[in-house]
Amino acid sequence: MISKSSQLFNEAQKYIPGGVNSPVRAFKAVGGNPIFMEKAKGAYMYDVDGKKYIDLINSWGPMLLGHAFKPVEKRVQEVLTNSFSFGTPTSLEVEMAKIITELVPSVEKVRMVNSGTEATMSAIRLARGYTGRDKFIKFEGCYHGHGDSFLIAAGSGAITMGQPDSPGVTKGTAKDTLLAPFNNLEAVRTLVAANKNEIAAIILEPVVGNMGCVLPAEGFLEGLRKICDEEKIVLIFDEVMTGFRLALGGAQERYGVTPDMTTLGKIIGAGMPVGAYGGKQEIMDYVSPIGPVYQAGTLSGNPMAMAAGLTMLQHLKDTPAVYEQLEETSNLIVSGIQKDLNEMGLPYTMNHVGSMYSLFFTSEKVIDFDTAKTTNTELFGKYFRAMLDKGIYLSPSQYETVFISTALSTADINTILKASRKSLEEISK
Ligand SMILES: *Cc1c(COP(=O)(O)O)cnc(C)c1O
Repeated sequence: MISKSSQLFNEAQKYIPGGVNSPVRAFKAVGGNPIFMEKAKGAYMYDVDGKKYIDLINSWGPMLLGHAFKPVEKRVQEVLTNSFSFGTPTSLEVEMAKIITELVPSVEKVRMVNSGTEATMSAIRLARGYTGRDKFIKFEGCYHGHGDSFLIAAGSGAITMGQPDSPGVTKGTAKDTLLAPFNNLEAVRTLVAANKNEIAAIILEPVVGNMGCVLPAEGFLEGLRKICDEEKIVLIFDEVMTGFRLALGGAQERYGVTPDMTTLGKIIGAGMPVGAYGGKQEIMDYVSPIGPVYQAGTLSGNPMAMAAGLTMLQHLKDTPAVYEQLEETSNLIVSGIQKDLNEMGLPYTMNHVGSMYSLFFTSEKVIDFDTAKTTNTELFGKYFRAMLDKGIYLSPSQYETVFISTALSTADINTILKASRKSLEEISK
């Protein structure tokens, strides 16, 4: 009998391009059809056919505390009876801005938007307006949402679908996006020297999650900071993924390097569609209505989204144990999988920091886009399907990271490790 998921997918493809509202949800890279979910609670998702999964994506990051976290649910229910949107300022927005600036000290002022994509697009426009320069540097394999100027050597779904450079992005737009390999300061210096006084910003994921997990080499973030200081370039950390995940203050806190601007998303919405960009007051005061750089949003700062995100951030602030637990859980999972891989003699590279990790099927060190692409994606597809079969839900692409949540119990960790061991045995046959 055909599963409900497959029926729905057949139907979906008639009305939605590819049957999905975001390409990363398709199973193109791993084979098979996407699973349609019905509900989720804590560490588990349940599909429309009633199968249960341990969730290791957590909505691509936002569900740091697991699904349907009670305090968030309660707070949203409280505000939702006061109307879904006003189009006027509300006190929730003030509270949200206050807590973000408190937890991420480099952010002195912040503007709320509706997605990570909006956050990065707006941040680049602002950096350009502030510096009066047109060009910016991005790194190959980093993903900053689907804004035109970022869809060049882009990571995430773009690599997975084999379209790191999207048609529809004009040459005019693309010429202002300069590319460097991640972890390569020399390449950045060369670009900066060749484009003296023309570069508005350097934007990066301080820890990359979108070509799989790739860590900054020692001195890389510091080196970028120094170049930006010397050349009056705005350093933008895209912490849409890493913000409130790698530490309360994000990757910038974990690595001790302070950007001029930060983009946020995912966790700050606790599952609601939210993004934010912020930074030095001097830069942020260039934004309309006090500054000349225009940026707006009918639903920005939406009360339900603010209630959800605010409750999440307040919980994280009041519960430092969250980060200890995330480290502990992740260490157990990662070291367990590594032990199995070593015993089986499978070539692999494990990149891991905090509650993010990627298992690459390559013996090369993965430090940038080129080395990430040495992975055996076919083997990953097999591993993915074997895990799915055993009820473990991984990202359906090698070029993504695992997102650990606090909802995983010791029993769940053991279930994951058992499933992984069996899956590795199956695929290495
Ligand atoms: C997810 C992500 C984005 C895009 O956010 P959306 O909410 O999907 O638009 C941007 N940058 C990074 C680093 C991301 O991980």
